[in-house]
Amino acid sequence: MEQAGLCDVCGVTGYLSTCVLCGKRVCMKCVDPRKGVCVACKRGTDINLSGEGIKE
Ligand SMILES: [Zn+2]
Ligand SMILES: [Zn+2]
Repeated sequence: MEQAGLCDVCGVTGYLSTCVLCGKRVCMKCVDPRKGVCVACKRGTDINLSGEGIKE
């Protein structure tokens, strides 16, 4: 679900997704659409979740 509001990560107003891990409402730039997690969670949990390692 998407809704307009204020991104909890970068503070920009726009269409938001909800992070599946922390529940923060984050904009398209701050969420990984493949996993549905925000950049903050992605940075800390990517390895544990997928085992893919850090690619960026
Ligand atoms: Zn954002
Ligand atoms: Zn998160």
